[in-house]
Amino acid sequence: MAFTLVIHGGAGNITPAIMDAQLEAEYTTGLKAALAAGASVLRAGGNAVDAITASVSVLEDNPLFNAGRGAVFTKKGLNEMDAAIMDGATLAAGAVAGVRNIKNPVKLAREVMLHSGHVFLSNEGAAEFALKRGVDMAPDDYFFDRSRYEQWVEIRDTDFTQLDHKGDNLKGGVVPNIGHKFGTVGAVACDMHGNVAAATSTGGMTNKQYGRIGDSPVIGAGTYANNKTCAVSCTGHGEFFLRAVVAYDISCLMEYKGCTLHEACNIVVKDKLVKMEGEGGLIAVNALGDYEFCFNSAGMYRGMCASDGRELVAFYG
Ligand code: ASP
Repeated sequence: MAFTLVIHGGAGNITPAIMDAQLEAEYTTGLKAALAAGASVLRAGGNAVDAITASVSVLEDNPLFNAGRGAVFTKKGLNEMDAAIMDGATLAAGAVAGVRNIKNPVKLAREVMLHSGHVFLSNEGAAEFALKRGVDMAPDDYFFDRSRYEQWVEIRDTDFTQLDHKGDNLKGGVVPNIGHKFGTVGAVACDMHGNVAAATSTGGMTNKQYGRIGDSPVIGAGTYANNKTCAVSCTGHGEFFLRAVVAYDISCLMEYKGCTLHEACNIVVKDKLVKMEGEGGLIAVNALGDYEFCFNSAGMYRGMCASDGRELVAFYG
């Protein structure tokens, strides 16, 4: 039996102009480590949920990415993180929003899915549940990343928010990204048993206010999985992905309209989102192990590996 694992580390204005050889090497190493962690679970016959938890945890631990360690700063100078996970075999799902000091928000989302009796926990309630479940915590300074702090300092006295991976769009109060770091993270997998799963984890947007929650933890918007169709993890300007209900829309196009995975991803990302001016992308896999990288931005940090030995890491369009 075969498996496929696909990961992303954020989509946006990722071009050779903002990279150099050292950064390319660092991103390559980070993405390959995440692939290796998930692949070892899948190779041993493990399930898709465990594999994507392993991959996303490695990306959360890497400050290159805007998730877990290295999450962006809110208007109040805090790191508030969102994450979700969904099991395509059972349609079980778990999500957390606005959590602080949780070392691996994806693991907390998984705990919510398996042990809370609920799907979506936020803020203090999520923290209380994390304590009860003995989820690993970390102090504020664990999450501190100088480059993201400097991005925030530049705009903290304004009402602008900044998409960590955005470079050139001034609409909707979003200011240009001047840093080199991009990166909500996500993983989707099809395991050897033909089950799919999806997970996404993010710090959201720099200078976000009012307890803003993006698409990443919202089941059906930034994250969705269903064995009948596909597993999807999104990255991009969350407000658009929320309104377009991106991940579930792709599943619906497959389920109700008979689209292939490739067709469904392209309709939503390259037509629907483009018309709304929603920038970003996604990764997707189906229960046959077919996969898609699809983005309407200049690039997306991404990678895949499969049981037949294929492995790929790429950044640019
Ligand atoms: N979609 C995430 C959000 O809006 C950000 C990202 O993908 O970088 O919170």
